[in-house]
Amino acid sequence: MAPRYKRILLKLSGEVLAGGASFGIDAERVRALAAEVAEVAHTGVQLGIVLGGGNFFRGVAAAARQMDRVTADSMGMLATVINCLALQDALEKQGMPTRVMTAIQMPQVAEPYIRRRAIRHMEKGRIVVFGGGTSNPFFSTDSAGSLRALEIGAEILAKATGVDGVYDKDPRKHPDAVRYDRVTYSEMLAKNLAVMDASAVAMCRDNNMPIVVFNLTTHGNIMRMSMGEPVGTIIGN
Ligand code: UDP
Repeated sequence: MAPRYKRILLKLSGEVLAGGASFGIDAERVRALAAEVAEVAHTGVQLGIVLGGGNFFRGVAAAARQMDRVTADSMGMLATVINCLALQDALEKQGMPTRVMTAIQMPQVAEPYIRRRAIRHMEKGRIVVFGGGTSNPFFSTDSAGSLRALEIGAEILAKATGVDGVYDKDPRKHPDAVRYDRVTYSEMLAKNLAVMDASAVAMCRDNNMPIVVFNLTTHGNIMRMSMGEPVGTIIGN
């Protein structure tokens, strides 16, 4: 079966690398994730991946404990790079050529993010892992996901999370929560549905970038999503 998309921007939160623990990196979890991603890449889909850093550090949480927000956000952005290097290592162990590109320059560690070069890597069959968020404080890696999806001309922003889509309320707190198969950007924003941050959703709305929110913890879901099977919730117009 042929994949539905030619190019996908996959947004993964840092927590997906942490496995059972909510902190740090679980090597077996990263290996399993890389194996799934590599399988998808072998079908010919071009993949860009934006990784979060929440398994190490979240700026907003540190700011709530009196830390300067801009400094805290810089720490969060650096945390994403640690995750990117772990994922690159695991993907390369799966035989997938992978490049890490960072929005904050650190050329001894990874390539600087240059849009055309990122596209070229993907055209050559390399997975590109984007680190450093947007390089700006007060943003999240969801916004980095929207931004990179638009910049690289992805057909969809695929946000993989721990829940299987967008619900009318938090399904972890409310057993009667109802999942949407489809929801509009405006509804997401008006109802303040918290699965993705508002600036990321608004950027996609303004530029017609479809989003799919799906559960990463179900094995095989990245492949199903890339084949266009109905996993999770589609956010569109
Ligand atoms: N961050 C930032 N600007 C960005 C992206 C991320 O300042 O463009 C910081 C912010 O402090 C955030 C942290 O990096 O809390 C980690 O990113 P995020 O919370 O989005 O990670 P995730 O929840 O996806 O693991």
